[in-house]
Amino acid sequence: MSELLLDGQIALVTGASRGIGRACAIELAKNGAKIVINYTNNSEAAESCKVEIENLGSEAIIVQADVSIPSDAETLITTAEEHFGKIDILVNNAGINRDRTVQRMAVEEWQTVIETDLSSMFYCTNRVVTGMRERGYGRIINMSSIIGQMGNLGQSNYAAAKAGMIAFTKSAAKELARFGITVNAVCPGFIATDMVDALDENIKEQLIAQIPAGRFGTAEEVAATVRFLCTEGSFYTGAQMSLNGGQYM
Ligand code: NAP
Repeated sequence: MSELLLDGQIALVTGASRGIGRACAIELAKNGAKIVINYTNNSEAAESCKVEIENLGSEAIIVQADVSIPSDAETLITTAEEHFGKIDILVNNAGINRDRTVQRMAVEEWQTVIETDLSSMFYCTNRVVTGMRERGYGRIINMSSIIGQMGNLGQSNYAAAKAGMIAFTKSAAKELARFGITVNAVCPGFIATDMVDALDENIKEQLIAQIPAGRFGTAEEVAATVRFLCTEGSFYTGAQMSLNGGQYM
């Protein structure tokens, strides 16, 4: 078999059971990486992602962990490092939304989104950089969003978390560049996954009307951006990779 660009590399993708995370895990595996699949609830989806990766001739393990809980994130990183010996690529992808206007939003809805979408990125990155620094190599990719760039009605919690990811990305990129570690944010527009499928049909039509490309993006298009950052993007760090069909420029 000819050599692949990510042969010998280990990638940990949080929230890899479904949607964008799953597509990233599969795309990185297609390029030779071995994968740590993280999920929190849907073990069946995680198992089917593992089977798909094994059918590609690569290797994967599944680690159930709620990355919004610091001790779970720590166990996730430790388990991955013990199994594969290292982590070269961390994709901080796990995320949820709990949409509500500012006035109606419950404190719990604010806190859950901040913990799951923003704090989880710190918990995982904080644990993974030690090994990356020792080896002088790492690729950290934070799944932000167009909403973190432009804001949105009813999404103040999600927008704050995703904008926070961008600011964290820039700071970590400055700290870690000298150790051979790049840190980038990917900012997708609306992508056809369970998260967007859950919206009312009339909201989806209104959203598509705002997208010059006239459609939602695909998880595979986002995964291609993540793969590019890992295989060819060595001079990208602190960047916001926007892919949104022209919805926000
Ligand atoms: P999705 O289809 O709802 O999948 C979410 C994934 O995250 C699932 O694998 C889920 O695991 C996992 N997850 C959720 N909470 C978790 C936790 N606490 N710990 C570990 N895993 C957790 O979402 P998606 O649309 O693919 O979105 C993925 C990321 O892209 C999110 O950060 C989202 O904000 C971002 N994004 C999405 C869009 C879009 O339009 N879809 C646009 C921009 C950015 P289970 O299967 O176990 O539930």
